[in-house]
Amino acid sequence: MSEARFLKLEYNKLYKQINSKIIMKIKDVWAEKVHDSRKKETIRIYVKTDFGIWSTSSPSGKSTGKHETLSFPESVSSSIKLLDSLKEDILELEIESFNDLEKVENIVDKKEAGANTLYALEASILKALAYSEKKELWQFINPDAKKMPFPVGNVIGGGLHTPETHGRKADFQEFLVIPKMKKFSDCVEAMKKAHSMIGEHLGAKKVKGSLNDEGAWSTSLGNSECLDILNIVRKEIAEESGEKIDIGVDVAASSFYAPDIYHYTNPEVLMNTKEQINYVSGLADKFKIFYIEDPVDEENFCGFKNFREKNPGRIVVGDDLIVSSEARFLTALKERSIDAVILKPNQQGSLLEIKKIVYLAKKYNVALVMSHRSGETMDSTIADLAFGFQCDYIKTGVHGKEREIKLRRLVEIEKKIG
Ligand code: PEP
Ligand code: MG
Repeated sequence: MSEARFLKLEYNKLYKQINSKIIMKIKDVWAEKVHDSRKKETIRIYVKTDFGIWSTSSPSGKSTGKHETLSFPESVSSSIKLLDSLKEDILELEIESFNDLEKVENIVDKKEAGANTLYALEASILKALAYSEKKELWQFINPDAKKMPFPVGNVIGGGLHTPETHGRKADFQEFLVIPKMKKFSDCVEAMKKAHSMIGEHLGAKKVKGSLNDEGAWSTSLGNSECLDILNIVRKEIAEESGEKIDIGVDVAASSFYAPDIYHYTNPEVLMNTKEQINYVSGLADKFKIFYIEDPVDEENFCGFKNFREKNPGRIVVGDDLIVSSEARFLTALKERSIDAVILKPNQQGSLLEIKKIVYLAKKYNVALVMSHRSGETMDSTIADLAFGFQCDYIKTGVHGKEREIKLRRLVEIEKKIG
C-alpha cells in the first residue's frame, strides 16, 4: 500500500471516530413478490439492521415514459434472484448518509435489477438509517422541513388509465383539482368533496362509469365537458370555503401521439403539433386551467417550450418528458421547457438522482411535484419524500386505500409539526 493511500485510510478512520456517527450495518436484505392495485406483480424489499426491519414496495405505471428505466428487465422473480446474489456485497456496506446510496448503486445496477428493485432497496435503507438516528424518513432528509405540499387530486380519468363508458372516454388522462387551503388536511377534505360532487354531476347526466385505476371517475364525456364540470364544482367549493381551488390536467399527450400526429377519439380528430398546442392552450384559457402536465409528446422539448410561452401564469409540468432523469431535466432547463417537474422515484429507481433533481429544481426555480403511479401499493414512502424534499405539490389521487394512505401520512406529519 502506498503511503498516501495508508494515510488516507488512517484519516478516514480518525474522521469516523471524531464524528462518532452511527455507521449502519445491514444485517440482512431480502425481497418478496407482492401485487399492486392493478393486481400486477411487483417487489417489496426488506432491510434488517440491529435496530429492526424496514420495507418498501414499488408501484408501477401504465402510461410509462419511453425513457424510464424498466421496472423489471425480465421478471420480478429474476430481480429477486439477482438481489439475492448481490446480498453478500450489500451486507459489506457501511452506510452513514443519504449520499452513501452511491455505494448501493455501485453494487446494484438499475438496468440489471430494474428501477423498482433499486428504489425499494434504497428507500428501505434510508428508513433504517433514519431510525438509527431516531428520525422519521422526512426528518432524516431535511430536519428543518416545514412547508406542506399542495395535493393534486385526480377526480376524472381518461386515456390509458380508464375503461370506456358507453363506448367512449376522455382523451386526456387526468382531470385534477388542486385546493390551495392553508392546511393540508383541509385540502384533502376539499378534494374528497370535489370527487364526490363530480360523481353526482356525472350520475345526474347519466354519463358516469366506474372508478378507474387511480380511483377517478370514468365518463363518456370528452375533455371539454369534463373541464366544464370540474369548473362548476371547484367554484362551488371555493365559494363555500372562501379559499382558492385550482384545476389541472395531465394530457399525457404521448399516449395518443403516433406517428407525428395526435389522435383524438372523443370526438375523433387528428392534430399536428401546432394544432395540439393551440387546442390545449385554448382549453387552458377557457377553463382557467392552472396545471398542465405533458401537453405534447415526450420527445418534444421545444414543443413544451412553445406551449409554455403561450401559457404564462400557468404551470407546465414535465412527467413523460423528464421521467425523473437528471440528464433530461438538464435538457429541459436549457430549453426552458417546463415550470414544474414530476418526481416518480421508480421511473429511474435512484433516490440519489431524485435528490440531484430536487437540488437543481430549487436552484433554477422549477416547482416539484412528487407523484404516485397508476398501479400503487399500500406504501406511503412518497409522502415522506415529498415533505422531506419540500416539494410544492404531491399527486396521489383522492380515492382508494392505496391513495389515501399517502394523504393520511401527510396529515399525520402536519399534525406532528403543528
Ligand atoms: C402519470 O402519467 O402521471 C401517471 C401517474 O401515470 P403512470 O403511473 O401510469 O405512468
Ligand atoms: Mg403524467
